Amino acid sequence: MALHRIASTGAVTLRSSLVATIIALLFVFMLGGSPGAPEGPPGPETGGGPPPARPPAPAPAQPSAPAPARTPAPAPAEAPGEASPPLAGRVIVLDAGHGGADPGAIGASGGTWEKYNTLFVALDAKALLERAGAAVILTRSDDRYVPLGTRAAIANRAGADVFISIHNDWNPNPSLRGVTTYYYHARSRRLAETLQASLVAALGARDVGVMRRSFQVVRETTMPAVLLELGFLSNRSDERLLADPAYRYRAAEAIYNGVVQYFAQEAG
Ligand SMILES: [Zn+2]
Repeated sequence: MALHRIASTGAVTLRSSLVATIIALLFVFMLGGSPGAPEGPPGPETGGGPPPARPPAPAPAQPSAPAPARTPAPAPAEAPGEASPPLAGRVIVLDAGHGGADPGAIGASGGTWEKYNTLFVALDAKALLERAGAAVILTRSDDRYVPLGTRAAIANRAGADVFISIHNDWNPNPSLRGVTTYYYHARSRRLAETLQASLVAALGARDVGVMRRSFQVVRETTMPAVLLELGFLSNRSDERLLADPAYRYRAAEAIYNGVVQYFAQEAG
């Protein structure tokens, strides 16, 4: 009994020590295993040691791969497939004429105010230009008065590529109709001609012409700058058109198309 007991106790001790060893080994393996596994991935993320294990090559080809995106991805991700938008990197200042206490011209009917017409066109044109990748700055985005010098200064400070001032015309002769584009410096002439042609075509308007005149906003700006007169509020027909949101949107589209064309000419 005693022997057996000793033997069995010995066996039990042996067995339990075996089990303990296995458990201990498992434990060590798990401890060792779990920190060991993550040790691999952090290496490539930091970018130091193990680049040969995971070359960054697959990353540009497949933008879905998340891990290597950090290091080499951003530039090649956009470049190869899609052409960049036509106005990417361009800074455009849109200047809605008048505002606040300065209503600009009042329509022949008495019910149309230039300061509203110009703002609506500027807002529509801004949305279109931004969709094409441009950074667009408005000299005013609501009904407020902004001094002329400030409008030019905003464009100069921003280092804008072009400045476009939007207006409605007025003349004591109520039969005068049509679109006019003004510029002052010679550097602005091509922009003026491009926008005038785009507006006349899109609006089916009478082409009053491209003219040089010393308006402050086009004189004091340091980049190609134009002042658009989209029609005469002193003319009943033009007034009706200028007050029509669909017509104003077409004017905004014409500004957008003209700007795209202008920069395309510059590139080509
Ligand atoms: Zn005006």
